[in-house]
Amino acid sequence: MRPLSGKLALVTGSTSGIGLAIARALAAQGADIVLNGFGDPEAIGALREDLANEASVRVRYVGADLAKPDEIEDMVREIAGELGGVDILVNNAGIQHVAPVQDFPPERWDAVLAVNLSACFHTIRLVLPHMLARGWGRIVNIASVHGLVASVHKAAYVAAKHGLVGLTKVVALETAETGVTCNAVCPGWVLTPLVQQQVEARARREGIGIEEAKLALVAEKQPSKRFVEPEQIAALVTFLCSDAAAQIRGAALPVDGGWTAQ
Ligand code: NAD
Repeated sequence: MRPLSGKLALVTGSTSGIGLAIARALAAQGADIVLNGFGDPEAIGALREDLANEASVRVRYVGADLAKPDEIEDMVREIAGELGGVDILVNNAGIQHVAPVQDFPPERWDAVLAVNLSACFHTIRLVLPHMLARGWGRIVNIASVHGLVASVHKAAYVAAKHGLVGLTKVVALETAETGVTCNAVCPGWVLTPLVQQQVEARARREGIGIEEAKLALVAEKQPSKRFVEPEQIAALVTFLCSDAAAQIRGAALPVDGGWTAQ
């Protein structure tokens, strides 16, 4: 028996980057997986098959757009009907937009808040009744160092991630006497498609190469001068799903090469 056998994990934004690493790690521990996120349907089909074969678990995909609360409701209802309720919820989907606050397009503000914060409220409110009824559940919100400290030009992202850390604490308090825990993980720079865009923008802006832009980006904030690996985030999420982590509640745990120690 693997530790998460018989559990069903919904990992939002798991077609890429950190979410995909988390889905793989939870599957390796025996959890059945619901993938979500955007991408080429054929590539997602292949991913789903690989993951199912690699870990011998059931893997489903639901392509809900998390900016739309009604699609989130349909997703959770579909999962409950087909697979039983969600035991492990990892709120990972996220988007970024970078601009000074006076130039920040209001529609990008709304989109960042919708995906990075409001979607987490909706998934949590919809899966919690099942977890409470079962007397066990794990909610892990992938926040960011930007849930703890700020950087320029990231008004919406920083506001959303600080909000997500706040939401995490409230849910942890409301479930404190139950078998459900809720925590946030706060990564520093992880080299995923989301960050690759920022690397490329920096290379263009400063007229430097991609490798130089990567180092400049990471060294500016992260004392280790190294990117965090998606698998390192996934390992912490897996630990938070274990019995050993049952009394970690409402925490916002940095995995950031020392960024927030400064
Ligand atoms: P990524 O761009 O590689 O992956 C994001 C995932 O979210 C993709 O699967 C994408 O399809 C999905 N997604 C985006 N919008 C969606 C929507 N409306 N509905 C459904 N799915 C949607 O990004 P990543 O770097 O792996 O980021 C994952 C999480 O980690 C995000 O919440 C991000 O804020 C956070 N994070 C990343 C870093 C980093 O350095 N990469 C640092 C701190 C926090």
